[in-house]
Amino acid sequence: MSWKLNNIIIIILLSYSIIPTFIDRLIWRRRFTRDREVALTFDDGPGIYTEAILDLLVKYKVTASFFVVTDNVEKYPNIVKRIIKEGHEICLHSRAHKMNIFRSYKAMDKDFIHALDELEKMGVRPKYYRPPWGVFNLDLYRLIKKYNLRKVVWNVMVGDWRKFTTPEILSRKLIRRTKGGSIICVHDAGTDHGPKNLIKALEIYLPKILAKGYRFIKIDDIYN
Ligand SMILES: [Zn+2]
Repeated sequence: MSWKLNNIIIIILLSYSIIPTFIDRLIWRRRFTRDREVALTFDDGPGIYTEAILDLLVKYKVTASFFVVTDNVEKYPNIVKRIIKEGHEICLHSRAHKMNIFRSYKAMDKDFIHALDELEKMGVRPKYYRPPWGVFNLDLYRLIKKYNLRKVVWNVMVGDWRKFTTPEILSRKLIRRTKGGSIICVHDAGTDHGPKNLIKALEIYLPKILAKGYRFIKIDDIYN
């Protein structure tokens, strides 16, 4: 490939995906303004650890938002039913958790149609969408609009997916970074070690943060 062609490809990629994603990330550093109200959001599920997380949410009377991957919804429809029944919110994370940097309008549209169909079968019409890894591109913005979704990223992330972390590290980071208006992104699936550590971390974090007077709200509560 010639030097010139390489440069052109880099410029196209930068303007199609990398710069829009970067701008979005900057915007989302800002917190929504709520005094001691925070949103706890779970990505990548449902999966085999989701029910243990739901048990914890019941125990501490916490509501959350689940950004689901609909290929997992097909595998665990009963867990989705439980999420809804227990008063949490279902949002869309994607059909199959593909990286959007290089993806075309057509390919992404196909996934939206499939994903929204899958959720409709469960009686869910999601209002909020978070792309895998928070990666956007210009066509994705058009599709988000087409399907009447609102994009939601995060402003607190603690690395719960990392192999060499511990529940103590995670809970400490969660406590330190939680502020009024935080949108916390953690994962109920995707790896085995991640949700296992997270469950133990939440067992430490939730009672402590509730004792500080924080209240957990859904994404929809932010926009309503
Ligand atoms: Zn994800």
